[in-house]
Amino acid sequence: MIFARSYVTRSGQFWKMWLFFGLSLASGVLLFRGFNVGEEQPSSFMALVLAGTGFGAISLFWLSMSIRCKNCKTRLGWRAISKESHNAWLLSLLTSDCCPVCNDIGIQVANSGLENQV
Ligand SMILES: [Zn+2]
Repeated sequence: MIFARSYVTRSGQFWKMWLFFGLSLASGVLLFRGFNVGEEQPSSFMALVLAGTGFGAISLFWLSMSIRCKNCKTRLGWRAISKESHNAWLLSLLTSDCCPVCNDIGIQVANSGLENQV
């Protein structure tokens, strides 16, 4: 995977990105359908556009709240959205190889098992 070295992947949180992408896709589809229905069915237009906007807001809220540093608990999604420019936050989140606050690399140090052999 192209983002295999990213913090999000190494810390086992990439599934949260897939959910974000799914919600964002649903938002886009609903908005697209809403604007295609347009003036022919005003109530459908409103319902689809409101639903699409809601899905978009939920996807961003999910990303902001769910992706966290395993060590210092910083909300990395929110940090990327709020600190990076509008066209760089997603790439920054997906390519960062460590937590920008505590430099945690997202890999649990494997238990050596030596304590069981003593
Ligand atoms: Zn951290």
